[in-house]
Amino acid sequence: MKVYMDNGATTRVTEPVMAAMQPYFCEIYGNPSSVHGFGREARKAVEAARAQVAKAIGAEPREIYFTGCGTEADNWALRGAAYANIKKGKHIITTNFEHHAILHTCKQLEKEGFEVTYLPVDSDGLVTPEQLEAAIRPDTVLVSIMYANNEVGTIEPIGELAAVAKAHGVLFHTDAVQAIGHVPIDVKAQGIDMLSMSGHKFHAPKGIGALYVRQGVRIQRLMQGGAQERGQRPGTENLAGIVGIGKAIELATADVEDRAAKMAAIRDHMIERIMKEIPHVQLNGHPTKRMCGNINVSFYFVESESILLHLDFKGIAASSGSACTSGSLDPSHVLLAIGVSHEHANGSVRLSLCEENTMEEADYVVDSLVEIVGRLRAMSPLYSDFLKGVETVGTED
Ligand SMILES: *Cc1c(COP(=O)(O)O)cnc(C)c1O
Repeated sequence: MKVYMDNGATTRVTEPVMAAMQPYFCEIYGNPSSVHGFGREARKAVEAARAQVAKAIGAEPREIYFTGCGTEADNWALRGAAYANIKKGKHIITTNFEHHAILHTCKQLEKEGFEVTYLPVDSDGLVTPEQLEAAIRPDTVLVSIMYANNEVGTIEPIGELAAVAKAHGVLFHTDAVQAIGHVPIDVKAQGIDMLSMSGHKFHAPKGIGALYVRQGVRIQRLMQGGAQERGQRPGTENLAGIVGIGKAIELATADVEDRAAKMAAIRDHMIERIMKEIPHVQLNGHPTKRMCGNINVSFYFVESESILLHLDFKGIAASSGSACTSGSLDPSHVLLAIGVSHEHANGSVRLSLCEENTMEEADYVVDSLVEIVGRLRAMSPLYSDFLKGVETVGTED
C-alpha cells in the first residue's frame, strides 16, 4: 500500500485540474499580451481564472495578482507594503511561528532599516487580538499573521486580528497558503487587506501562486519589466498554471465544509488511535482550532528521522516539520515557539491529509506507527534508561 500523507508539503494535481490545463500547452499557447486571436484566447483564460480565484475568497477579480509561488506572494506583500508606506513608519508586526517566506523576508527588512516585532504564540500556537493591540505603535504600517500554521495546523482568529489592525489604520496581510480549501475564507467579511496563496497546496501545479490586494491598497512592485498584471507583476503569464489554479481553487472551495468535515473525521480517528495505542506521545498544536488535515505528534524517546525512514519503507509519506526546513538539523522553529522541548521536537511527525485520503489509509498509517515506534523504542537507550528510572522509583517505594 502506498499512502501520501504529506499534503502540507505539496498535493497532487487532480485529473479535473489537469484536464482544464491540458489545452493550454499545445493548442492555446498565445501570449496573453498579444493582440491577435491567439493572444486574445489566452487572455480570456487568464481573466476567467482570475475571476475563479477572486470568487473563491470573496474578492473582486481586479484585486487578484498571479505570482510564481506562495513565497513570492509573501515577499511581495511584505516588501511591497513596507516600502509603499515608508513615509508613514517602519514598524512591522508578525509572529514567531510564521513560514520562512515571511520570517526571512522580515529579517531582510530589518537589515534594510525596518523594525519588526515578532509576537510570541501560546502553547497551542495562538496569538490574541489583545497581544496585537498592545504591540501596535504610531509607526506601525503592516501586520502579517498566518491564517493556519503549516506545521501544527493552528488556525488563528484572523477576523478579530484584522479588526484590530484596521482600527489603527494598519494594513493586515495573511499567509493563507495552508488554509485555502480547508477553511472558508471571505476577505471582505474578515477585513483582510492582503492574502497569499499557493496553487500546489490545493491540487494545482507547483510554480503558481496569487496575492490578493484589496482595492485602494497601494504596494510597490518587486520586479521591473512589462505591463503584465496591470503593471504590478511583470513577466509573461504562466498560462497553464493560471488556468490550473483557477480550476483547483474552484473545486477546493465549492464544498469546503464537506471536505473539511471528511478530513477532520479521519484526522480525529487517527489522533484518537495514536493517543490510545502509543504511550508517551503528545499532540502539538491546538486541540480544536486546528486545520482539518493536520496531525502533529511528538513520540518521546525516538527520532522523527528514524520514524519517517521506516514509514517510507512501508510506502507512507509523512514529514517532520515543514519540507522547507527538513534537511537542516535544527529543531523546528514552530515547535520551539509553542514551547515544545528540543528533545520532544526531535521526535515529532507531521501527517497532513487531503480530501482524498481514506479511513483505510488512516488505519494502515496508525498500525505502522504503532509497530515502528514500538520497535524503535525497544532499541532506544533513552527508552531503556527511562524504564530503569521508572523501576528505580518503583523499588524505592
Ligand atoms: C508552502 C507554504 C509557503 C510557500 O509556498 P510556495 O508556493 O511553496 O513558495 C508559504 N507559506 C506557507 C504557510 C506554506 O505552507
